[in-house]
Amino acid sequence: MTHCYLSIHGHFYQPPRADPFTGRIPREPDAAPYANWNERITAECYAPLAEAGFFERISFNLGGTLARWLDKNAHPVYERILTSEGAYYHTYGTTNGLAQPVHHTILPLARRRDKICQVRWGIASFTYRFGHLPEGMWLPEMAVDYETLGILTAEGIRFTILSDEQVRGDLEAGAGPYRVRLPGGGEIAVFVRDRALSNALSFGMPDPGEMDDWLSDYVDRRCRKDGLVLIATDGETFGHHHRQGVEVLGRILSAEETHGYELTALGRHLRDHPPGVEVEVVENTAWSCGHRLDRWIVGCDCTPGDSRWKGALRRALDNLACDIDGIYIQEARRMGADPWALRDAYITVVLGQLDGPTFLAEHSLNGLLWPDQERLLWLLEAQFYRQRMYASCTFFFDDLDRHEPRYAIANGIRAMALIRYATGDDLTVGFRRDLGMAVSGRTGRTGAALLEEILGKGRLW
Ligand SMILES: [Zn+2]
Repeated sequence: MTHCYLSIHGHFYQPPRADPFTGRIPREPDAAPYANWNERITAECYAPLAEAGFFERISFNLGGTLARWLDKNAHPVYERILTSEGAYYHTYGTTNGLAQPVHHTILPLARRRDKICQVRWGIASFTYRFGHLPEGMWLPEMAVDYETLGILTAEGIRFTILSDEQVRGDLEAGAGPYRVRLPGGGEIAVFVRDRALSNALSFGMPDPGEMDDWLSDYVDRRCRKDGLVLIATDGETFGHHHRQGVEVLGRILSAEETHGYELTALGRHLRDHPPGVEVEVVENTAWSCGHRLDRWIVGCDCTPGDSRWKGALRRALDNLACDIDGIYIQEARRMGADPWALRDAYITVVLGQLDGPTFLAEHSLNGLLWPDQERLLWLLEAQFYRQRMYASCTFFFDDLDRHEPRYAIANGIRAMALIRYATGDDLTVGFRRDLGMAVSGRTGRTGAALLEEILGKGRLW
């Protein structure tokens, strides 16, 4: 029987759900009998996978918002994930976890300095949770461009995952890893997931009783001697999207001998099988939409209805971000700080490793008078919320008048409030003007109306 390698990568992620004003998650009635979706998906997916020890056997990335929520609200599950990764690391001397940019931003659409920040914050978050550096990074929606890949390598990341339709070249070597040369010099390793195979699991989850046949049909015939077969999908596929997914995953993980494959994770596979073949990346593509990055820019046929709100909302967020950055740069420089280096380091405060004054002291800014220190900390906190506006889900769905775009606007409001505490500047007028051009095709409401509604309530819900 052919001996090949199989790796299953789960992308475990939940968008932020907490009200940016109160920090609380509201009751989500459609998640009943649970209080909200995080609780429900934990019960259906994260908890059973963790309890079964699967995080020691698969490859995975755990998004920052989800990790934080699990840590606080389902601590035994969080602990189990960390322990499983630790056991893997101890056994193989390499991690089976990948880092993830903190706010799940579509990186090719971000400015270079924001890409760098998201990547650095992702690496710092991984290191904080798992106690060692990551080797690979998951790109949100697998959205890719060469600038992003160049930043990953500059930050010490050795590999990422793309889908087979996102690369050009000879893919005879299965999932690779392949070598991708970067325009500015250097290279990065790319694992290429088998899209058809991954989709067969994500969208046609087999019955656990049929797994022997399924593995013969789908995995055995993809096995090439010493080659790697890679399934990469949303982690929630197992147990949440498909109830039988936990059992199916268990069957795949325990069929190594019968089906002649050996389970592996990507860092370990890269160490033992350095990339030979070179491929090119098809820039500005993603795994979840075949229309380049249109889904997050102007809309595409993947969603019904009028999607012109996407471009208008993005413009409103970009203008607000530009205003917030202008104030931040001016104030930070006035106080003798390097604005972007300071922002990249600020993740230590977000993670709770340092309090604000200690953080400033570590950056030799404790000589500032307290009002200036306080001002700088508010401006840094505004940078956190201003980046969170760009979570990929803001633009993913069909309409403006729904939870995700509203959430982005609320984060903008939170950032504007912090700017106002810091400098007295009121950015609301410009944001309202720009949001007035984003119109819901379903309800006719504008982004400005959503802004007014949130401002009127003083909270998101
Ligand atoms: Zn599309």
